[in-house]
Amino acid sequence: MSKESLKERLDKGPVICAEGFLFEIEKRGYMASGEFVPMVSLDHPEILENLHKEFQHAGSDIVQAFTYNGHREKMRVIGKEELLEPLNRAALKIAKKVATNHIGKKKNLMAGNISNSNIWNQDDKNSQLEVEKMFREMVGWAVDEGADILIGETFYYAEEAYTALKVMKESGLPSVITIAPYGQNIMRDGISILDTCKELEQQGGDVVGMNCHRGPNTMLPYLKEIRKSLKCHVAGLPITYRTTKAHPTFFNLPDKNGCSCPTPHETTFPTALDPMQCSRYEIGQFAKEAYDLGINYLGVCCGANPMLIREVAEAVGLTVPASKYREKMDNHYMFGKNKRIPKHIKDYRGKA
Ligand SMILES: [Zn+2]
Repeated sequence: MSKESLKERLDKGPVICAEGFLFEIEKRGYMASGEFVPMVSLDHPEILENLHKEFQHAGSDIVQAFTYNGHREKMRVIGKEELLEPLNRAALKIAKKVATNHIGKKKNLMAGNISNSNIWNQDDKNSQLEVEKMFREMVGWAVDEGADILIGETFYYAEEAYTALKVMKESGLPSVITIAPYGQNIMRDGISILDTCKELEQQGGDVVGMNCHRGPNTMLPYLKEIRKSLKCHVAGLPITYRTTKAHPTFFNLPDKNGCSCPTPHETTFPTALDPMQCSRYEIGQFAKEAYDLGINYLGVCCGANPMLIREVAEAVGLTVPASKYREKMDNHYMFGKNKRIPKHIKDYRGKA
């Protein structure tokens, strides 16, 4: 039996995609923050496989291979270029294995992944050709390892996103392409967020939208505009932090929550963002609002965890394997309404 395609799924309703592997693997102790290289696929494949399974259990329809930052330039930075292909293939094989062993009602799609290279220079053709080569080799490995779709994400240069899409389209696989503009609310090469998305649709992106850098509050206003202007399916995958108009991305988000021990770095990013974390309800509300606008490709990026993915899925009406364990506050020993809860315990709740 053949698998339903991404487009067929999106035409019918929501498709959930868990991103945010970088932050979650770092939190679990298997990646150096700041450096952020996904060596986990080689060093601790069982940990990565398990995280994929947890996201799958929480309702992620797409199993996205964790090759973010696993590109040639980053491997050069850490002096491990010889591990580039093994790292990519290992990450892809793990994602394929999990996607093949689906546990929900629907079969999963395995996605190959390319992303922001951080060497793209709008004034340097050589850097652009270098990036294109990096994309092409990674897409090649993804196709080789049986990817069902390709995801290009977190681009802050419009032209780099166009290049990623061009390379992804050469493979013939369905493409998801999402951008991540910085705090000036414009792509770094001066193209507006909306115009970048319009162009990505023109150039054949199957799903176009935004991911990362922005929390629900500073992503949704742009998603609204994008949804209105585009005919193709739209994607929205925010970070899970409370970004504001004054600080639209997590890079310069101040901690105004009574922090008693400031971060040793210039910014709360990336190691002291925890106090600005959105609650599950805020993430659920984002998903519902986006879905009501007609945005069917939904997920969470940095800050994602399985609980939040379940929240996204349930907010748009899905029941997923992890729904079995959604909150049951009625049975809480003090805040619950279960009739077995003793009155003297319940009555103390306000003073707890
Ligand atoms: Zn992210």
